[in-house]
Amino acid sequence: MYELTISEEFEAAHRLPDYDGKCCRLHGHNWRVEVAVRGKQLDASGLLIDFKILKAHVAEVLSTLDHHYLNELAAFADQPPTAEHIARYVYEMLAEKPAFQTNVKVYAVKVWESPRSCAAYMPEAG
Ligand SMILES: [Zn+2]
Repeated sequence: MYELTISEEFEAAHRLPDYDGKCCRLHGHNWRVEVAVRGKQLDASGLLIDFKILKAHVAEVLSTLDHHYLNELAAFADQPPTAEHIARYVYEMLAEKPAFQTNVKVYAVKVWESPRSCAAYMPEAG
């Protein structure tokens, strides 16, 4: 099994309405998103997936979040935009792409809302 991880960033504001503390007020983060993919087969060049291609897929998903007020997005209409829910959103948007339906699968998405705080999402069955 091979695993590749890339890291990208986006900036966005959010608030956590049900949180008892200052995060219930509007504020922003420079979010860092790590995406790990796994697969067993390398291509003829010895790559699982070209980092450039992986980064482009991740950037496409993150463009739906970048410079948005996350609470206003349809994806977070029924759930607050916590790091946990953002990680799951990014995971699901990536996992449904044809590029990740065969040999290369999205393994985990980690969302860092600060340099010291990170939430990860991965499917239960692994
Ligand atoms: Zn926050």
